[in-house]
Amino acid sequence: MTYKKITLHRGKESSLERFHPWVFSGAIAQFDNSIEEGDLVSVYTHDAKLMGNGHFQIGSIAVRMLTFDDTPIDTAFFVQRLTNALNVRKALGLLRDDNNSFRLVHGEGDFLPGLVIDIYDGTAVIQAHSPGMHFARHTIAEALMQMPGNLLRNVYYKSETTLPYKAQLDPENQYLIGQYDTDVAVENGLKFHVDWLKGQKTGFFVDQRENRRLLEQFSHGRRVLNMFCYTGGFSFYAMRGGATLVHSVDSSAKAIKLTRDNVELNFPGDSRHDAFAEDAFKFLDNMERDAYDLIILDPPAFAKHKSAVKNALIGYRKLNAKAFEKIQSGGILFTFSCSQAVSKEQFRLAVFSAAAQSRRRVRILHQLTQPADHPINIYHPEGEYLKGLVLYVE
Ligand code: SAH
Repeated sequence: MTYKKITLHRGKESSLERFHPWVFSGAIAQFDNSIEEGDLVSVYTHDAKLMGNGHFQIGSIAVRMLTFDDTPIDTAFFVQRLTNALNVRKALGLLRDDNNSFRLVHGEGDFLPGLVIDIYDGTAVIQAHSPGMHFARHTIAEALMQMPGNLLRNVYYKSETTLPYKAQLDPENQYLIGQYDTDVAVENGLKFHVDWLKGQKTGFFVDQRENRRLLEQFSHGRRVLNMFCYTGGFSFYAMRGGATLVHSVDSSAKAIKLTRDNVELNFPGDSRHDAFAEDAFKFLDNMERDAYDLIILDPPAFAKHKSAVKNALIGYRKLNAKAFEKIQSGGILFTFSCSQAVSKEQFRLAVFSAAAQSRRRVRILHQLTQPADHPINIYHPEGEYLKGLVLYVE
């Protein structure tokens, strides 16, 4: 099957020969006049060889490739890709009685550029990052229901904040299939409410699942400070791990309420936990020295674009320096960056500068990354975004 035609400049097919999933606008020599944003297109070399099919978008990434042959992009295509993605999650052991939340589709990492799907019990939450995936949303919802195993009851579409603003698609967050029934999902035996209607991203940060489990192992007997807690994920793992005290901080009052509700869901009436709606930087400035011996710093992406990297690195240095200054000797620091534009090396250097500035002796115990249900397409290393360090601070 072929679609409206895009022809590349001579030689510009080389990245597609290496299965890189993007065509940049500068690589395009010619396109059909009738092509509109979000259309399916077929990409050809200058000498008319078909390279594959993808979604067209106005902007520097002009085409996100879905196939490298002439396979039609229809319901059967999506059922196949989604089933393959599900098989990977099954192989990872993520579908269990005590775990029903995971990322089913991680964009390029699952060979579906522009698409993210998280599963929370029987509900799939779809996020489109490209107009093409927005237009395909009903097909994708149908394909989700056709995956083997009868996993899903509901499909919720949540792309109001993820689609390019300029595309003027006016997406409406809505149920494409089913309706609200429960908002409680389970991760490694811990329950949590997911607010996919109003929460950030798809409602929960599934990408910290394995790192939370590691934190649980470090928590016994420790006083834990969970900065930028959002739904309190790290907090309730720390409590299960035997922390003596857990304080959660987020500048959003809504996040604090979610955290309190989630702690209550797992540990009703447990007085070890408290939560504060405060700015993280101010909280760190005002807190006593040695009040905590396990601190988590998991801020929002400080750099959304390459142009913001320099300031982001200053932000990471300042934030980490404050934690190094205050943490009890023998303490553990879990520190993260989820900015895709900041490299592992840059982040490490920012944390290293913070350690030097605070004159603490610091060991790197673990180097963390995104979990396996957020896979990195081997042909698209840009997909690596989450970076973390577990540090022992003397
Ligand atoms: N650690 C969380 C995810 C953090 S998302 C988890 O495991 O799920 C980032 C959070 O930082 C958001 O909830 C946001 O409200 C909060 N935030 C952003 N700026 C902040 C600031 N200056 N002080 C405190 N919290 C902030």
